[in-house]
Amino acid sequence: MITLVQQYFSESAQKYPQKLAISCESQAVTFREADEFSNSFARHLQSLGVTRGSFVPFFMKKSVASGLSILSILKADSAYVPVDVNSPAQRLGSILKSTQAKVIIANNDSEAKLKALIDDTSQVTIVNIDAFSPTDTSPIDYSNLSIDIAYVLFTSGSTGIPKGVMIPHKAIIDYIDWCVETYEITANDVVANHAPLYFDNSTFDLYTAFKSGASLHLVHDELNAVIPRLVSWLKQREISVFFCVPSVLTMLLKSRRLKPDSMQHIKHLICAGEVLPRDILDAWMEMYPHIQFTNMYGPTEITVDCSYHMMKSRPEAECLSIPIGKARKNMELFVRTEEGKLTQAPGVPGELLVRGTSVAYGYLGDTQKTEAAFIQNPNHSLYHDPLYCTGDLVKIDENGDYLFLGRADDQIKFLGYRIELGEIEASLNSVDGVVEGVVVFNDSEDESQREIGALVSADNDMDSQMLTQALQEKLPSYMVPSRIVFSSQEYPRTPNGKYNRKAIKSLVFGNS
Ligand code: AMP
Repeated sequence: MITLVQQYFSESAQKYPQKLAISCESQAVTFREADEFSNSFARHLQSLGVTRGSFVPFFMKKSVASGLSILSILKADSAYVPVDVNSPAQRLGSILKSTQAKVIIANNDSEAKLKALIDDTSQVTIVNIDAFSPTDTSPIDYSNLSIDIAYVLFTSGSTGIPKGVMIPHKAIIDYIDWCVETYEITANDVVANHAPLYFDNSTFDLYTAFKSGASLHLVHDELNAVIPRLVSWLKQREISVFFCVPSVLTMLLKSRRLKPDSMQHIKHLICAGEVLPRDILDAWMEMYPHIQFTNMYGPTEITVDCSYHMMKSRPEAECLSIPIGKARKNMELFVRTEEGKLTQAPGVPGELLVRGTSVAYGYLGDTQKTEAAFIQNPNHSLYHDPLYCTGDLVKIDENGDYLFLGRADDQIKFLGYRIELGEIEASLNSVDGVVEGVVVFNDSEDESQREIGALVSADNDMDSQMLTQALQEKLPSYMVPSRIVFSSQEYPRTPNGKYNRKAIKSLVFGNS
């Protein structure tokens, strides 16, 4: 019985030792090589002070080394924490602080950058995985239980501090077993990993491949920067299972590189992470009728996805939005009405609440935020029965499918990233010389128009360039507002005194 996710890999290594396990750019490792290397590197991590229950961040571009880091950290009975290699020092510092990490893994490419970012007084040891030569490669005995944490992913936090979502092994196993069964993924498949490893969409790719013995091909950062090149990459690598954010479908379609045989190996194309535009999906389905398309839905806090809608045919003309579907096995969804009641009745709009094995433990070291988002099932108080409040507004249609209606708060999806405008606002207001700043998002249907903007009142000598530079030191670049409007006027407010964000949006973006 599999209780820990690294066992997926070791079992596949027994069955398919010589098979390609992970590849990225021109590098590749077989299942046996990766299994043996990670046994030895896990021992090395333990010799550096990593103990059961430790959190171990890794900081590098997507590479075979990042896959090996994940396996090794898990094998050391600890939890992995992927860190974006473009994180500014402040964000990295906040992650190191909340994970209380003693060790962080870098590779040849990232070591110098990491050293420059880490505070001299920090007690953390940097270990370069590329510089490591395996010694004892024999299998490792694990002490972890299935309820122990496998990974922590940091997502944007509205108060300015990223939230570390804690996911135990059992949550991933529950999700992955369902995925492999539902999509009939086998060792004959070739799985792509498009999402960055610090996004939970990557969980699908890593573990469906590790469990089934399929080969995993990582889409490296440079390739991802030039999306049209993905078309030939998918074909050359003979990818059969492709999981991506919908904006990738939009960009590929607009690239005009798609040919009738471009996707000839793909069997399953699964989209998740943001709204799947109906017309884009329709165009893809018309072009590639052999592909099974799925719209999956879920926040990081419930382990990738809790609902799915497999397309049986192209969307009807009257279908305005693609449903996020029905709950996957072992997950249950509810609509919380305005009166606070849970319902599964069609037609009633409200916030989506989720329960099931894959619900996260909450946010690392933040009981307050955890308690606000993970609540006791209001239908009883007999035992601990947590529901995650997604902040997404939904309703159920006449077929019992959930429809996504939007957000109940200021969280946005931009370039595939989940961002709390509040986090940007907190950073903006902490810049010396800023008196008041409000952050807004232009959520235009035309993706090229989408943009984060800010209305700012600041000291006279502050200009956009200075402000942008100050923000770049605090936030990842995708969160830094690209349009900054300075104003010393009183900001528009609603009758109850809150910022009138609609009016502020018009001031920043005009009426676009
Ligand atoms: P993340 O935690 O980065 O996966 O982001 C989760 C959020 O992305 C959800 O709470 C939704 O707001 C949005 N989301 C995820 N999947 C979908 C989908 N299929 N359709 C619409 N929004 C989605």
